[in-house]
Amino acid sequence: MPILDTMRAYLSGSEQIVSECRHCGTTVEAGVERCPECDKEAIVRYHVA
Ligand SMILES: [Zn+2]
Repeated sequence: MPILDTMRAYLSGSEQIVSECRHCGTTVEAGVERCPECDKEAIVRYHVA
């Protein structure tokens, strides 16, 4: 996706980023680097259009 389209999607709020621990599957807030459940730095992020 071209960068301008990415920015436009971000600014319009049509795209969400989900952060989740890949160790235990807990969903965490954006920006969290360490899982509060299992205390591992195993956070992965993926985009939900
Ligand atoms: Zn975890």
